[in-house]
Amino acid sequence: MNTSLSGLILIPMIFHLVVISICWLYYLVREGYPHMAPVRSRIYRCQVCEYVYLDTRDVPLARCQRCGCLNEAVKT
Ligand SMILES: [Zn+2]
Repeated sequence: MNTSLSGLILIPMIFHLVVISICWLYYLVREGYPHMAPVRSRIYRCQVCEYVYLDTRDVPLARCQRCGCLNEAVKT
């Protein structure tokens, strides 16, 4: 059996890289891809017309979809 020093270092390193890559792919599929993550939205209640609405953007003030008034988030 003819093994060189570089073979003794490279073969275990490649083996571990393959194992880590398989684990990474397994957890990626199990947890779901990032684009499949649920979208966090904020709840807003309009102070003028009492209309309750959601906005997925992360902004402190969102415009009411009914009357156009800017409102703060009630719940994040
Ligand atoms: Zn409104």
